[in-house]
Amino acid sequence: MKCRRCKKEAEVELRSHNAAFCRDCFLLFFYNQLNKAIKQFRMFTKKQRILLAVSGGKDSMSLWLALVELGYDVTALFVDLGISGFSELARKKVVAFSERFNAPLRVVDLKEEGIPIPEVVKKLKRPACAVCGRIKRYYFNMEGLRGGFDVLATGHNLDDETSRLFSNVLHWKMEYLEDQAPVLPDEDGLLRKVKPFFRLTEFEIAAYAFFKGIDYLTSGCPFSKGATFSSYKRHLNRIEYESPATKIDFYQGFLKNLRPLLKKKAKEELHHCRVCGYPTFGDVCFVCRLKGFE
Ligand code: SF4
Ligand code: ZN
Repeated sequence: MKCRRCKKEAEVELRSHNAAFCRDCFLLFFYNQLNKAIKQFRMFTKKQRILLAVSGGKDSMSLWLALVELGYDVTALFVDLGISGFSELARKKVVAFSERFNAPLRVVDLKEEGIPIPEVVKKLKRPACAVCGRIKRYYFNMEGLRGGFDVLATGHNLDDETSRLFSNVLHWKMEYLEDQAPVLPDEDGLLRKVKPFFRLTEFEIAAYAFFKGIDYLTSGCPFSKGATFSSYKRHLNRIEYESPATKIDFYQGFLKNLRPLLKKKAKEELHHCRVCGYPTFGDVCFVCRLKGFE
């Protein structure tokens, strides 16, 4: 197979783009898709400060390197969840990346904050991921606002977005459909959120990480019972195999045709936490309550 662009021997075949590329031309394609996403949704500019949520996994680490290489002002934030055997390894990978590429990194340590995930889960007797998600969101927003960042970026890719969309449509979860987009505006004092990888698939990101020699975390979190949307990802991959480009059409079609029709339901009025100022429905926010403030 030959590279579509330069006719050298191809290393990657992309059926959804009806193309194959050699390594150098694949990297051009990759940056091109990323730039297209950033420009199409005016996600950020080179003058703005980006806070990037990193977990140590392939997507967030790849986005980190790609934004650094494209010359964006990006700072990574890693939340050490205090999950033994998992968080130490993830933290090591993230710190090593930061040193290797001389890329700014901030770390929040939940043990130092007094709320490591295993202890909180034991205390609350609630599903780990629901609690963990809320705590991570809190620190991403708080660090972003306190640090004067313009936008919060995450490594969600096309497979994450389409599997979530598929699930929300199958079950007609209208309130979740309203919140599904590559850009979510800032509201109630929370940062604007963007997903610059929404045009790129897991496969394309894995190829990028491989070509760039990124050392990322491959082991899963012990609390994960298999990713929630993984069976939908498998179904969509089967459809994509039969009819290439279905995933991007499905997602872009939703953004163009259905999402503009969804009216945002008025939400209950938010207050600001008496202790830390974070938006909350009550007097004291979830994290401050966990820390013992009432
Ligand atoms: Fe947190 Fe769940 Fe992800 Fe583990 S799998 S890091 S508990 S959200
Ligand atoms: Zn608070």
